[in-house]
Amino acid sequence: MSEEKIGITDEVMEKINRHSVGVLKKEQVYCFRVLLCDNEVDRDYEKFSAEALGVLAGLFVGRTGISDHECRSSGQTARIYDTEVKAYPERKTADGEVYTALFGYAYMVRTEKNGSLIAEIEGGIKKEVSVGCAVKKRRCSVCGADGARGGCSHVRGKVYGGKLCYVVLEEPTDAYEWSFVAVPAQRAAGVTKVYGERSEGGAEEALRGLEERFCEELRRDIIRLKSFISGKTEDFDGLDIGGLLDMKKALESQLRAEAAGGSVGIAAADSDELGAFRV
Ligand SMILES: [Zn+2]
Repeated sequence: MSEEKIGITDEVMEKINRHSVGVLKKEQVYCFRVLLCDNEVDRDYEKFSAEALGVLAGLFVGRTGISDHECRSSGQTARIYDTEVKAYPERKTADGEVYTALFGYAYMVRTEKNGSLIAEIEGGIKKEVSVGCAVKKRRCSVCGADGARGGCSHVRGKVYGGKLCYVVLEEPTDAYEWSFVAVPAQRAAGVTKVYGERSEGGAEEALRGLEERFCEELRRDIIRLKSFISGKTEDFDGLDIGGLLDMKKALESQLRAEAAGGSVGIAAADSDELGAFRV
């Protein structure tokens, strides 16, 4: 995301100062670009429609970004002052559309506290973000049924008559905060290597490999869930497959309880009864 330096022009400062409390000067701000979301099918088998990205572009202006939950109160926040939807005609999504991405232009006030975070952003360490938003429609790619209105029996990730089932997120109604996370759901948002090399072994080895992949998937889910839940979270190193599953379930119900209580307003990606989720 910091592949290009953002020139802090007067026009940029004018946009920034629409959102700041006092009037900021150029030397007081650090600006950077983040890939908020795109129209690629993500690992949860969800994607935004290109139209939805256009709507989100408007909704994300002014939204706050956080580094992680511990920093929520310590003022280590960034804010989006501008957005841009960019189409890449030479690149196609998994479902054959022109790849389209929504970028956010964000600023941070340069403070002593923000120094290390700015260094991490500049160094490309903090380059994955996760976004929270609400959509009105969740359309099935196979039959077009709206998941928000009862949906259908198609299972995302499965193939029906050569057609992959995924959910198209349409008509966004709100955008919440965005945050830097360890593991984002969206493929383009930074994870380059998901699994280890495939091994050329026997059935037993293949089974072990499968188990390891499943554990890896669970750890990722746990990291994602943890990033949405404030408060203390325990370590999961050394847990076996059963332990990881239990922890994931516990975090999911904690998240649902928080969402139901109105304290976060964000539900897990798989809680389809709620319109709000994170990707
Ligand atoms: Zn369907």
